[in-house]
Amino acid sequence: MNVKIDQEACIACGICYDTCSDVYESDEDGNSRLVEDYRTDDERTGEVPEELADCAEEGMEQCPVDAIEVS
Ligand code: SF4
Repeated sequence: MNVKIDQEACIACGICYDTCSDVYESDEDGNSRLVEDYRTDDERTGEVPEELADCAEEGMEQCPVDAIEVS
């Protein structure tokens, strides 16, 4: 699954990394970024294994500003 985080839209609420810490983590400002293992181009763009798809999607669904895209 591909994951993209829009850090401009992110309001640093923490829900995604509280919900799915296997995929998301906080940067130094509280904004979301991908955990290092699953980054591809940069900390906002990555690919997660199939077994973490539900986790990644739950984080996406809970984001109040739709800053996460999972496809
Ligand atoms: S849930 Fe959305 S707004 Fe909250 S930290 Fe994650 S990406 Fe940012």
